Amino acid sequence: MNENTTEPHHYLPEALRALRRARGWSLDRAALETGVSKAMLGQIERGESSPTIATLWKIASGFHVSLSAFLGPVPEGGEAGTVFRQAAALRHQPGTDGMLVAPLFPYEARFGYELFELTLPPGYVRESEAHEPGVTETVIVLAGAMEVLTDGGWNRLTVGEAVRFPADRPHGYRNRGAAPAVFHNLIHYRSPGAC
Ligand code: MN
Repeated sequence: MNENTTEPHHYLPEALRALRRARGWSLDRAALETGVSKAMLGQIERGESSPTIATLWKIASGFHVSLSAFLGPVPEGGEAGTVFRQAAALRHQPGTDGMLVAPLFPYEARFGYELFELTLPPGYVRESEAHEPGVTETVIVLAGAMEVLTDGGWNRLTVGEAVRFPADRPHGYRNRGAAPAVFHNLIHYRSPGAC
């Protein structure tokens, strides 16, 4: 997609280590809270292993933080608080499962949401565990076609179609087409400050 897609992860190892230290959690404790093995967590912190997006989400949920906390720094606004972002410059592959992620607007407590542009390669399937209580997601398809799992069924969406669903229960995303599916994913957390 762009030159950033193959770059190794620089931000994640330090972000995870800093967060774990801030909590005062040992690797054992972090493994217990996230359901990700101590060995894997250690490898991620040392930059020796890139997790899948599913594993990243497990870590984020276990620490009760947003996904974007692991993807890059929060952008600073100008004097007016206006922030311009460019998906093409932010798009990268943070996990090993082929999903491209552009963290357009990372989570900030005062806003209570994070907004991603996500790209699913053909054949991509991801079923997600429930997020924190009260989390909702909005999906808006920008290119290609995809299916969203909600209320126990897969729903097909094409360009210009959108869905908002409760994400505090199992849900999923898949691309059964031959072309990449690109969509905006807005994740809204119920209570600002809770994450
Ligand atoms: Mn989700």
